[in-house]
Amino acid sequence: MYIFVNGKIVDSESPAIRVFDRGMVFGDGLYDVIKFQDGKFVFLEDHIERMKKSANFFGIKFPYTLDEICSIGHKLAVMNNLKEGELYLQLTRGVDVIRDHVFEDDYDPTFVEIVQPVRKMDPSIWTEGGKILTYPDLRHQFCEHKTTDLLPNVIAKKYVRSKGAYEALMFREENGRKYITEGASSSYIFFDGEKIIAPKIENILPGITRSKVLSVAREIGIVVVERRIWLDELPNMKEVILLSTLSRVLSIVKVDGMEFEKGEIAKALDKAFKDLVISTLVY
Ligand code: PLP
Repeated sequence: MYIFVNGKIVDSESPAIRVFDRGMVFGDGLYDVIKFQDGKFVFLEDHIERMKKSANFFGIKFPYTLDEICSIGHKLAVMNNLKEGELYLQLTRGVDVIRDHVFEDDYDPTFVEIVQPVRKMDPSIWTEGGKILTYPDLRHQFCEHKTTDLLPNVIAKKYVRSKGAYEALMFREENGRKYITEGASSSYIFFDGEKIIAPKIENILPGITRSKVLSVAREIGIVVVERRIWLDELPNMKEVILLSTLSRVLSIVKVDGMEFEKGEIAKALDKAFKDLVISTLVY
């Protein structure tokens, strides 16, 4: 596979990343994943904007423009013979001279761009609905940024998959009561029979799919409330809906032992979201 690393297109097997890269030794970096569909990148501008905002927050230089990233992506897609897939972007603070937590302010960042086939996903999750398991959210206080230090998410996802579930529904605790955060690599929203309730963005990723789906929900006249959702409210919900770039709009039919409808709200949102994607495919 051909990939882009710091200005060059190279074979993915080539040693293009240095050992003292701060992404390698500290997970000091950011990433994003963008769907590549019909030869175009879905919501590319929103993903780059999110990444740039986080780069600015952490003081990592953002080395390429939207147009440059887009044209590198198209080149890679052609070279890798892909019309569908996922675009992966990774930005790290760059190469340090030695391993030292304290960083200087003038590093040249490392920027990697990959266009690869969509990872294997069982298509029956969309027709039958997905099953998920609750799991503690063991991450840090920077979850509003797509940082590369994903070990807790990797462990959560590996655990739920080993139990036959598609994704984790992660929670944190406050005063002994658990509240819902997000998935290991997805967002959740809920329908209580009257309105959509979305966990508010308090140390969770502002998912691009979440934001697009909530806006189409409002457009089709569904009331949306963003607030903290406690895990013990789950039995009051009619529909549980998972959202992400690759899973899109996915009805969840089972959370631990609790069953939910593969309902009409998820179906309506799925259609509205697909229409929005098609009408905004520009890059
Ligand atoms: N939350 C987490 C922790 C994620 O890693 C992801 C995507 O990878 C999402 C939510 C969904 O975000 P998006 O809709 O931008 O893909």
